[in-house]
Amino acid sequence: MGCTMIGVAVEEKIKQIALQRGADVAGIASVKDINKSAPRGHRPGDLLAGAKSVITIGARRYTAGTWMTSSTEVMHRSRSAMGTRDAIPLVLARYLEEKQGYPSIVYNAHMTDTGMNVSLSLKVLAEYAGLGSRSMAGGIILNKKFGLLGFSAVVTTMELTPDGLLSKPVCPHSSCIKMWNKKKTTPCMDACSAIEGTINGSRLQDVIYYRQLCATRALTTMNAAYLRLLSEIIKEEDPEKRKFLAIGQARQYAEDPPGRGIWGRCIECMRVCPVNRKAFKSFLKSREGAANE
Ligand code: SF4
Ligand code: SF4
Repeated sequence: MGCTMIGVAVEEKIKQIALQRGADVAGIASVKDINKSAPRGHRPGDLLAGAKSVITIGARRYTAGTWMTSSTEVMHRSRSAMGTRDAIPLVLARYLEEKQGYPSIVYNAHMTDTGMNVSLSLKVLAEYAGLGSRSMAGGIILNKKFGLLGFSAVVTTMELTPDGLLSKPVCPHSSCIKMWNKKKTTPCMDACSAIEGTINGSRLQDVIYYRQLCATRALTTMNAAYLRLLSEIIKEEDPEKRKFLAIGQARQYAEDPPGRGIWGRCIECMRVCPVNRKAFKSFLKSREGAANE
């Protein structure tokens, strides 16, 4: 288990570093716990032999204003927080290696090129680190305070005290339970045919997520999606249409991914989710009058 350093447990120190660097939340999961849910071939030990713990950090992907924009382009293409999300695990991995002496690796959503079947599920890592719980909306991990977060992680051989699963799930929100009791639907289900499920009392039951429907709307900006479509694009006979599909009408800079402008990223289920809405609204409320301070 983690040692105590000058009065601060190493687990606390790790979380402090993450929060000081811009993470909204940070938590620790044990590899033993993760292996209860992750199948062989998708476990931390498959990436780093001897892995004992995984530190997961979460950062809000969007500003509060982004959730309120009337522009679908702004909404669907905002990625401003991703740099912070991906940079923090590197700082933590260096800390674990240089100050603690344990080999560690950074893991983020684009770390391995395995398409839809990721090497490690960041959802599982976040859940076992106590950062939120699975939601009706495609199993997105909802955090009670921040709603939707983007996650990244550090896999380490250091044994740390884990945070573990939340005792009370974040989804369904009380207003969703009321809506279910009246109309047999919830805001996310009402917004999207990729989501189906039932609520029993105050708990989710029989949740179905049609990944093939969601993936074509929500996961369309990844390089993997572009590569998957490339063979179809090459077969397009009209040269102008082929060029449009291959390059994208909105590609402005060399670093823009090919296809930018053709594909957006749906996130409607979170735009209507009361947990997520409450998160950005309470942030704005807490800042009311701050401009005059
Ligand atoms: S991201 Fe879009 S397509 Fe996917 S479940 Fe949510 S609303 Fe449906
Ligand atoms: S709208 Fe949000 S809180 Fe309500 S059921 Fe859907 S994901 Fe859960």
